[in-house]
Amino acid sequence: MRLGVLSDVHGNLEALEAVLAFLGGRDVDRYVCCGDIVGYGPDPLACIERIRGLDGAVVAGNHDYGAVGKAEAAGFNPAAAEALVWTADRLGEGERGYLAGLPLTAEAGRFLAVHASPSAPAEWRYVLTLNDAGEEMGRFAADVCFLGHSHSPAVWMQPAGGSLRTVSESRFEFAAGARYIVNAGSVGQPRDGDPRACCLVLDEASGELSFHRLEYDIAAVQAKMREAGLPEVLASRLGSGF
Ligand code: ZN
Repeated sequence: MRLGVLSDVHGNLEALEAVLAFLGGRDVDRYVCCGDIVGYGPDPLACIERIRGLDGAVVAGNHDYGAVGKAEAAGFNPAAAEALVWTADRLGEGERGYLAGLPLTAEAGRFLAVHASPSAPAEWRYVLTLNDAGEEMGRFAADVCFLGHSHSPAVWMQPAGGSLRTVSESRFEFAAGARYIVNAGSVGQPRDGDPRACCLVLDEASGELSFHRLEYDIAAVQAKMREAGLPEVLASRLGSGF
């Protein structure tokens, strides 16, 4: 069994298609999606449809709830808020119901999925530092918590009887007795300086987790965003990955 983990698609269909084609080719048969299917990007409907068709667990992000009035507009910067209004205008009743019905957390075996922080999923707090990870680690029971929200891939590990540390390898095996917080990065709007789409593969038999970065047609997405009148800052940042 292989699990594909992805987060923060943000209406970027070209990036999502690249990720799903890659994961499909790696014999992934179940998926975890850590939220923010919509917001920022030009294809919210098609991205919802693709995510909805996956077998696995999907949780809500602040943009998913924001697009259906379940997250405070005050929590978004001006460009994000403008894109959310644009997104909300395009959702049909079916999409609205789907986004509104997404849970804040989902458990799948040894795994917990959440968008922002496991301790307070509805507060949309970022887990960015080793210190943040240390505060969260005792606040969930699963062996591994997958999350997103920051758009920057990261792994923090709590070894049995050892001290919390950052894992910098992009491919490693889960250690026996250790617990992890894994930020899955972003499919559709990376912010770690690498503009390629990010996703993870977990081989459940070996316990190997690997991060992957995939090229996609960024210029095509930027052209759609400009055509749609979405804020320019959102289009241009796709090219830099910041
Ligand atoms: Zn996001």
